[in-house]
Amino acid sequence: MTLNYLMPTRMILEDDCLYRNRFLLGELGRKALVVTGKNSARANGAYADAVRALEANGQDHVLFQWVMSNPTDLCVHEAGALARAEGCDFVLAIGGGSPMDAGKAAAVLAVNNIPKEEFFGLAFKTALPLAAVPTTAGTGSETTPYSVLVDTTGPGGKTPRKEGPVKRSVGSSLLFPRLAFLDPKYSMGLNRDITVHTAMDALSHGIEGMLSVRASHISNLLARESIALIQGCLDSLCTFPPDPWALSREVREKLLLASSIAGMAIAQSGTVVPHSMGYLLTLNWGTDHGRANGLLMESFLKWCRAREAADPSIAPRIPSLCSALGMDLDRFCGVMEQLLGKREKATEKELAAWGAMPMKNAANTYIKPGQEDIMEMFQDALAPGDAPR
Ligand code: NAP
Ligand code: FE
Repeated sequence: MTLNYLMPTRMILEDDCLYRNRFLLGELGRKALVVTGKNSARANGAYADAVRALEANGQDHVLFQWVMSNPTDLCVHEAGALARAEGCDFVLAIGGGSPMDAGKAAAVLAVNNIPKEEFFGLAFKTALPLAAVPTTAGTGSETTPYSVLVDTTGPGGKTPRKEGPVKRSVGSSLLFPRLAFLDPKYSMGLNRDITVHTAMDALSHGIEGMLSVRASHISNLLARESIALIQGCLDSLCTFPPDPWALSREVREKLLLASSIAGMAIAQSGTVVPHSMGYLLTLNWGTDHGRANGLLMESFLKWCRAREAADPSIAPRIPSLCSALGMDLDRFCGVMEQLLGKREKATEKELAAWGAMPMKNAANTYIKPGQEDIMEMFQDALAPGDAPR
């Protein structure tokens, strides 16, 4: 056995944790670049709490509030330039995965002069320290060393890329947030779709974490716990109340914790092929990231089950996954169908194009899918027509 485990984020979950633990924020620097999306951080009170904590500490800040969902390289370069121009010495990222990932990239770009076309794949040696406040319960970015961005820049710094935008991940231990403040109150008003889709993202991190070639004793421990926590919320998600505020605080808290724990799992194991495939749905259709993973999950898991059954040389993992889920695969797929509702359908042309594309995370999958397998999974998940599944 080999293990190489790193988890340097101090994660705090409690009511009003940002203000109560503001002294920790006080240790990060003098002036923060606060990174948010356009509206939610102000609407849910997280930005006001951050300002209260920073002011009580005597810390200054400048706000970058322009992060879109699935942030682009252009957006994070702007945020990095603002941090540099304003002399910020730390970053406080508040929001879903998009502002947290943008904040991580800005923390690097503030102290490294990296042209847009060179950011992906370039090693960097420094980054500003970062604190993260998740307000969705899904990506776990607050405990991962990844920043997932949309690369829009072609060779020579030309935008747009001739081949179209691609989702790319930057990974470095410097991108682990120093601090993660988990306060479920910020996600209380999150609507049904964002709540369910982000929960699907967290669930897919746990599931994919268990099906990664890099899965370890520790990542499996974390993945299983995150899956069990979300499993305990599935009934509440399936019967989501018309008023999002009516979903109990207990469920919100469980989802938030599960998401952070699943983040710790993929920090070790990485994600596998559904994540890479799902990026195409997000880029082409604007499908929420978690929903994209959810749409592909059934086809992927059934493909894994069939391969395990057909090839005795494969050490089976689906039974262990089902034990973490507390149900068999068919029942789980039924629950996913209920949560997904009507599935999006791809055209034959889209299926042919996507099925032919190499998938980066395929190599990280415990059974490596070939191009035909990927095509089959896309077809199974998204084939046109209304045939019942
Ligand atoms: P998101 O794009 O961050 O946010 C989705 C929407 O939710 C936005 O409209 C946002 O509004 C709103 N929102 C956020 N918090 C809210 C709240 N408390 N109440 C009401 N509305 C709220 O979505 P996400 O699913 O959390 O993040 C997706 C991104 O994370 C993708 O780019 C994905 O690739 C990435 N990701 C990263 C990792 C990682 O390890 N780093 C892992 C998985 C996924 P505002 O825009 O107004 O804030
Ligand atoms: Fe994800």
